[in-house]
Amino acid sequence: MKLNGKGFLIIFLVIQCVTILTVAKDFDFFYFVQQPAEDFSIHGLWPNYNDGTYPSNCDSTNSFDDSKVSDLESVLQKEWPTLACPSGDGLKFWRHEWEKHGTCAESIFDERGYFEAALSLKKKANLLRALEHAGIRPADGKFHKMEQIKDAITKGVGYAPYIECNVDSSGYHQVYQVYQCVDASATNFIECPVFPHGRACGNKVEFPSFSSASSRDEL
Ligand code: 5GP
Repeated sequence: MKLNGKGFLIIFLVIQCVTILTVAKDFDFFYFVQQPAEDFSIHGLWPNYNDGTYPSNCDSTNSFDDSKVSDLESVLQKEWPTLACPSGDGLKFWRHEWEKHGTCAESIFDERGYFEAALSLKKKANLLRALEHAGIRPADGKFHKMEQIKDAITKGVGYAPYIECNVDSSGYHQVYQVYQCVDASATNFIECPVFPHGRACGNKVEFPSFSSASSRDEL
């Protein structure tokens, strides 16, 4: 069979498409996840795929090395504390987040870069300020309309968050985690390609007080 110019072009385009489809990406975007306490605190920065699945524990040769973040420790203790074990120094929790999630984005940062990227996203998101602008003070013991919380956060960064709730012993919904999506360079907030399947919230929610904040049971 003889191929003319058009034939070659079609074959070339088909090869390009197949190449694009078969080169697996490390991940597509991140979930940046925070939990409310007196301020919000970081839970993690999690590489995810657009289909809702996510990679984990991607490089067992790149274990957490606390010497790489020793000068960040005081800021991490404030912004990324371990709520499961408030008296703990956080090292176990940071190790878990780096090894489970951070190692799956080694193409864009090393261990130190992972923690710096999350700290910088927390500043950028400034959830406390976004809520305060809407007259919402977390931990004020009041109930808030879910729509108002979502709108306030959306106004802050430009994109809607996903909010996950817990149900307390009296059956009231409490904000548990706020998910925001971040591009694959871990720099800019983006529209979420897919929302996680966490426990949804009712129309009225409260913020937990620091002492009653639920623990991270996975640790
Ligand atoms: P971890 O503390 O292990 O980072 O996360 C705690 C829980 O959050 C996990 O057991 C899982 O239910 C959820 N989770 C963790 N990472 C991801 C993620 O990247 N995407 C989604 N959708 N859920 C996650």
